[in-house]
Amino acid sequence: MAIIGFIGIGNMGLPMAQRLKDAGHEVRCFDTSAAASQRAEQVGLRMRPSPAAAVDAADVVITMLPSGRHVLDVLVEAGLPLRDGALVIDCSTIDVASCTAFHEALARKGLATLDAPVSGGVAGAAAGTLTFMVGGTQAAFERAEGLLRAMGKTIVHAGAAGAGQAAKICNNMLAGISMLAVSEALALARRLGLDSHKFFEIASKSSGQCWALTSYAPEPGLVPTAPSNRDYEGGFASDLMLKDLRLAQQAAITGQSPTPLGAAAAAMYAVHCANGRGRLDFSSIILLLDPTRARVEA
Ligand code: NAD
Repeated sequence: MAIIGFIGIGNMGLPMAQRLKDAGHEVRCFDTSAAASQRAEQVGLRMRPSPAAAVDAADVVITMLPSGRHVLDVLVEAGLPLRDGALVIDCSTIDVASCTAFHEALARKGLATLDAPVSGGVAGAAAGTLTFMVGGTQAAFERAEGLLRAMGKTIVHAGAAGAGQAAKICNNMLAGISMLAVSEALALARRLGLDSHKFFEIASKSSGQCWALTSYAPEPGLVPTAPSNRDYEGGFASDLMLKDLRLAQQAAITGQSPTPLGAAAAAMYAVHCANGRGRLDFSSIILLLDPTRARVEA
């Protein structure tokens, strides 16, 4: 069993650290937020007073932080006392440039590193069913695989350093664009007087079929488990979708890859979030396209 330093015990980090503890590892946690630290202590996680105390003598260090700036502050600039030979895994969703900087800075110290962003949200973290998209060497991946399996169901070695973030950003750009496409089609179908259930029955068996329609339909009543049936509460917040769409745009500019639909999706989610709906699941974007749809605002 490993000694694990876990930094960033927020919505995602808390259930992930719990899964590691439940698998028998010694997990030493740190978070700058007093409220997050208190919540972690209440569920039996051991908090440390500083990041240095959390990583001291740890075999593996895991970070689950808001952005690339936080990851570089903690892992590169703070000069933490990382043990020789330690494996450092960043599970946050961050920009490609910060991800590269994190790998390069720690490699210079002889440490093994992985970027391992996740998909599956808070519910997936609690159930241990996250998907991990992992970038780094084969040797580092093999060291991490067992630990990641304690927190996730699908663990994919995407490629070299940075490949995990690249996969995450591309996947979420695709999800954002396809959710908008499904919302547009449902809004138009309604304006044309089509019954939504009939349209769903047809499109889910035709060339328009996609995950955003058949697993996560933005209109209530079509897919019982979709957040649209719970007034768009829970699920994956529009604020986080906007964050990921902006990361995709940054990467597209750096990589000189044309992403006109990604750019349109980022602009539309920016308007949606500015309208005060950033907290709602990202399928609520249908409310921007078809404002006549009923939703009880909190
Ligand atoms: P969160 O804001 O709930 O948690 C982040 C935690 O990091 C907070 O508790 C904060 O206090 C802590 N923190 C910030 N700076 C710190 C520092 N310097 N040292 C120690 N702790 C620090 O965010 P979250 O929802 O848990 O998301 C974490 C990451 O996972 C993000 O990169 C996000 O994009 C990604 N992600 C989130 C979801 C989701 O559904 N919430 C899904 C997939 C990926």
